[in-house]
Amino acid sequence: MNPLDQIRTPQGRYPVKLAECEHGELADGLSIRFIFKEPGCGAPECEKKKNGAVGVEELAFLVDASFEADHVMIEKIAKETGPLFGPNKTERLMDWFSESMLASAAIDIQAVVNSDEPDAIRFEPFLNKDRTPITKKKMLPSGGNAFLVYSLAIAIDEKSIMALFGDEEKFPLVKRFAFQDAYDYAFIGVGNDNEGASLAVSLFAFHREITSSDFLAACSEFASSLKGGEVDEDDALRSSLTEKAHSLGIDVNDAEQRASNLDGEIEFYDEPFCKEDVPHLQKMVHAIASLNLDVVGVDLFCSGENDGFLVFPNYISYLWYRFVCRLGQVKIARCEVCGRGFSLLKGRGKPRKYCSEQCKTKAKNARVKSQRDACRELFIEQQLPVSEIAKTVYAEELSSNVRANKRKTPEEAENQVRKNLVGYPAFKHKVDDDLRAGAGAPFVRRCMEEGVLSAEQVAQRISELGIMPKK
Ligand SMILES: [Zn+2]
Repeated sequence: MNPLDQIRTPQGRYPVKLAECEHGELADGLSIRFIFKEPGCGAPECEKKKNGAVGVEELAFLVDASFEADHVMIEKIAKETGPLFGPNKTERLMDWFSESMLASAAIDIQAVVNSDEPDAIRFEPFLNKDRTPITKKKMLPSGGNAFLVYSLAIAIDEKSIMALFGDEEKFPLVKRFAFQDAYDYAFIGVGNDNEGASLAVSLFAFHREITSSDFLAACSEFASSLKGGEVDEDDALRSSLTEKAHSLGIDVNDAEQRASNLDGEIEFYDEPFCKEDVPHLQKMVHAIASLNLDVVGVDLFCSGENDGFLVFPNYISYLWYRFVCRLGQVKIARCEVCGRGFSLLKGRGKPRKYCSEQCKTKAKNARVKSQRDACRELFIEQQLPVSEIAKTVYAEELSSNVRANKRKTPEEAENQVRKNLVGYPAFKHKVDDDLRAGAGAPFVRRCMEEGVLSAEQVAQRISELGIMPKK
């Protein structure tokens, strides 16, 4: 019994007043510290309206474009969610990152499932090793039946396994999904190769119910994927997978002899992705999401109808539950400034272009600066009239393609051009040189005709410079 359990909501959330994320090198074992709300102070908290609250999508992008921890975002999320994995006063930042890797894999795959782009663009995230590299192979065991295998390794800190899944013993996991004329078997296990630990997810897709030798062929392929492709006789893994076979109703004992002859005789070919892969990819998302859902229970007393009387022992299980309830809406976009991904809720207004307010401001500043530079270039170097410059530089603002608050009338656009010119040091120098030259100041005259400078401004500048009017 943990005293913090008193403040736990049916959704598994432990409400916090404050969350602090330590700064420093990740390897130093940084953590996130939570300050909890007192039990019994105020009314029990209700979950926020479903669309506004933090979701698995937000957890997917905790690092910024340079792979540094985004402390501002992490603290903002952590303050809303509280500890993710249970009644913890601190949680390792590394565990949050491991969860983040899991979330971004699920979201990347789901976004591909939901995409309506042509295949070449749609499956691009699977070919990018910085995104979610999934391989698809066609396996042909000699004398057996061909099947497809989709494999993904999610980099995860080895110490995070306990925090995320409670128990390392639950791996390897084998799950079976039968739908229409497809029989999918998902294998999930903890792999280890020279690049560190990973969560290996392999989905084997058959066109008919599998035989025991199919299962063993899948086992040897999976075992080698856990070891980074090496063929390895791991007895513990083998016996654990055999046990799973029994619970799925597959009798492997008689096939085991035959299977040992099979070893090394499976031919395989890389296969390109196509739209027929989509239902299997959907099952991969289900497999990843279900890792966090096996702890969910039903309780008529502690929960309500809204959440189907479900109770969640920790908040991460609730977040994944809500994620699977609206998989069809998952869509991601990349920030136009820094390239970081973010979640877009499908079909809600004009899509966002930037990952954060900072990037939005950066983009806006860059745009304002380039417009300012263009005004100066066009007026001073190319000697275009202000009205022409306004039409060129502010074409978008003058059109009806922009929102009302960004729209400009022709007059406003021209005034903006004038403002951009006078604030420019090189413009001031050019005015001064023109006045001093005593050659009739053609540039200043042009400025006055175009309304960039007023007669008063020019007179004042002449007197400031101490220029005597010519006799
Ligand atoms: Zn950005």
